[in-house]
Amino acid sequence: MTEIPSAYEPKRVEERWYAYWLAKGEFHAVPDPSRQPYTIMMPLPNVTGELHMGHALNNGLQDCLIRWSRMRGLNALWQPGLDHASIAVHVVMERRLGEKGLTRLDLGRERFLAETWKWKEQIGGTILGQLRRLECSCDWDRTVFTMDPGYSDAVLECFIRLFKKGLIYKGKRMINWCPKDQTSVSDLEVEYGETPSTLYYVRYPAADGGDGVVVATQRPETILADVAVAVHPEDERYRRLVGTQVRVPLVDRSVPVIADRRVDREFGTGAVKITPGHDPLDYEIGADHGLPVLVCLDPRGRINDLGGEPYRGLDRDECRTRFADDLRAAGAIEREEAYTTNVGRCARCHTVIEPYISDQWFCRMAALAAPAIQAVRDGRVRFHPERWTKVYMDWMEQIRDWNISRQLWWGHRIPVWYCACGEVVASKTAPERCPRCGGTEFVQDPDVLDTWFSSALWPLGTLGWPHETADLRYFYPTSTLVTARDIIFLWVARMIMFGLEFRGEVPFRDVYINPTVLNLEGRRMSKSLGTGIDPLALVDRYGADSLRFALINRCTGEQDLRFSEKMVEDTRNFANKIWNAARFVRMNLDERAGPPALPPRGTLGLIDRWILSRFARTAMGVTDALERFEFRDVCQRLYEFIWSEYCDWYLEMAKQDLRDAPVPGHRQVVQAVLSWVLGETMKLLHPIMPALTEEIWQALPHEGETIMRASWPTDLEGLIDPEAEAQMDLVMEVAHTIRGMRADLGIAAGESIPVMLYAPADREALLESTKRYIGLLVRARSLTIEPQNAPRLGDGVSALSGTVEIVLPGRVAAPIRERLRKQLATVERELTTLDDRLRSRTFLERAPAPVVEAERARQHQLSARRATLERYLADLDDNA
Ligand SMILES: [Zn+2]
Ligand SMILES: [Zn+2]
Repeated sequence: MTEIPSAYEPKRVEERWYAYWLAKGEFHAVPDPSRQPYTIMMPLPNVTGELHMGHALNNGLQDCLIRWSRMRGLNALWQPGLDHASIAVHVVMERRLGEKGLTRLDLGRERFLAETWKWKEQIGGTILGQLRRLECSCDWDRTVFTMDPGYSDAVLECFIRLFKKGLIYKGKRMINWCPKDQTSVSDLEVEYGETPSTLYYVRYPAADGGDGVVVATQRPETILADVAVAVHPEDERYRRLVGTQVRVPLVDRSVPVIADRRVDREFGTGAVKITPGHDPLDYEIGADHGLPVLVCLDPRGRINDLGGEPYRGLDRDECRTRFADDLRAAGAIEREEAYTTNVGRCARCHTVIEPYISDQWFCRMAALAAPAIQAVRDGRVRFHPERWTKVYMDWMEQIRDWNISRQLWWGHRIPVWYCACGEVVASKTAPERCPRCGGTEFVQDPDVLDTWFSSALWPLGTLGWPHETADLRYFYPTSTLVTARDIIFLWVARMIMFGLEFRGEVPFRDVYINPTVLNLEGRRMSKSLGTGIDPLALVDRYGADSLRFALINRCTGEQDLRFSEKMVEDTRNFANKIWNAARFVRMNLDERAGPPALPPRGTLGLIDRWILSRFARTAMGVTDALERFEFRDVCQRLYEFIWSEYCDWYLEMAKQDLRDAPVPGHRQVVQAVLSWVLGETMKLLHPIMPALTEEIWQALPHEGETIMRASWPTDLEGLIDPEAEAQMDLVMEVAHTIRGMRADLGIAAGESIPVMLYAPADREALLESTKRYIGLLVRARSLTIEPQNAPRLGDGVSALSGTVEIVLPGRVAAPIRERLRKQLATVERELTTLDDRLRSRTFLERAPAPVVEAERARQHQLSARRATLERYLADLDDNA
């Protein structure tokens, strides 16, 4: 047993115990067939990442589940790691190079990679250090970086197996191209937003000299790559034009007018230009009509040779203005109107995305998705809150093939080799000999894999797959995944697909989708918007324990949570309250206190039986809420129990027994109950506030070396004591009412006053036996209990607490009369409602008999109460 210092200093407490746990290797897990595993795979932070509020919440929740599981006796593993974050790192590196006026192309692949590794070693992994300050109990010995050799090998293995199965193919497709990052990005990495633009109505004259047709476009520069004009087959306006040729303005080329059902007759004039090289729908239409694909932009978004003079080399935006000017000058523009369009931007660099035709690698999803849909339908993977199941299903059922290649350098290079003879070989290293021509010269595919391709393998790759390791056998499938809603498709769904494909088993059983942290105004927290709060600054100010509790306490079933610094400050006050209570308990313990144990039941007083019963209900409620991922409920139960029941009621009443034991030896009973309940409560709070609870637990009688390994409170039904709870409810209500009267009458907090209680016969004994506590709780100079029908002595103010009448002698005052009137009004309101209901034929006919009976009893009770209140008011008027 250690001492508890007078002031609660979170930083000191947290640093001390985190170092202690680390030194003892408490976070490390190894397979142990005698125990059941409980595994969480950390959503990989990016190597460029820094802790933000979303991380603080997400990791706080994971740590809570992991610590709880350890205490439940499970063999808990929390796997940490870092994602190489291909495109995000490119953005950082290109920015650094840009400051020197360079691009990655100036460096070349090898030098760029060498520089990137150097940078990664320097500042990569900052966030892992920050997670330690958040007290995360990850198994740091197992930290994996997705470009580590072992993990990389698993990624290549995964690619090769899918390739050999025919699930990976290369194809010319229209993809989302970021001209700034010079890579394709997936559909999920494009952010759409309304952008003002201009709609140009451009005339395409008929090749034979007729009027031709007017089409509307907002991208006139792509006219350079037009291959047709299309109309709807049922559009009467254009029927006669289908099959004829029109001239592309400013470009010396004739193109056909075609009919296709996919044309939107409502848009513009109903006739549209077809530019397969620059629009996904045009690409489909062009392919179906056997049209050629022309491309007028280069990978940097500049006009290529197709533009000829004077457009070649212009940026796409410059060219748009220039081309529109030239069309106008040529009299080809009939009309211009303002138009708002939905433009997609690169989620990383916010450059406008260009639909672009290029050679890309794709993963066929239909075959992989089917078992992953089934796994969720069968409940082998469960989403919490449940509504996310539908979100997952909707996406999976209309899944498209996944573009997995990126034209970047940092990442896993695609393990495909090309021979001059045209043979394509998938292999981790350069093949020795071409299987077709026997050649020995190969060129490796220059692209790297989408970052999400490697993170999809996270639960397998970290445990040693493709090797059949003891870790893989023991810890897979993992237990719970805690993540954010924006990566359900990018990550969660793909892990399920890969887990089933490569291991035949789901990667995890439960997926908890944590809320998004917003500020009080409901805005996303963002550094760049200036709406962010730095979680580390809050840790410095209030402690990680308080930050964790404040965040977890806001996790309702809603999809967002609103957060402010004030919430952390409130939690720090809660922590202070616990600290001070613990100091009081500690100071009142005998130094020779043995291991924690409860005294025999027969020696317990009413207040002891009551607090034990309340503790048991709290512990059962907390456990149940944790099992259901209802985190707010966990926090609320703990907060209420500790703040109100333990500190404000039990501790205050126990002081009386410590000072003046009602029976000899009772002091030891109270000491034991005080410290046992506090110690067990610290266990319940430990998963959320690890260091505070460890410090207090260490200062109380305890068994073992750390609260982390203490056993979770279970089998508590025997402590539940409805009789003690009912009796204490009465005592607390009387005390509460007297405190209210004191407040109403403006009696100074330090002033002690005489109190009279008039109680019905069935309450007298209870009040008599708890008088010592009530007197203390309400600062009574004297507390007298009289039978209900005893004559009232002299004047006084009175109030009712249930059936007990409270009189503060010599305190006639208007507030008390007011109070009684209010009580009377409330009773009358309720009675009117009840009377109406009990007169209603519908209610009497439809409500079950016990309900009607209960309502009648309540009606009877309220009438009696009304009579008493009216009598008291009359009494007061007599006194006045
Ligand atoms: Zn970009
Ligand atoms: Zn060959």
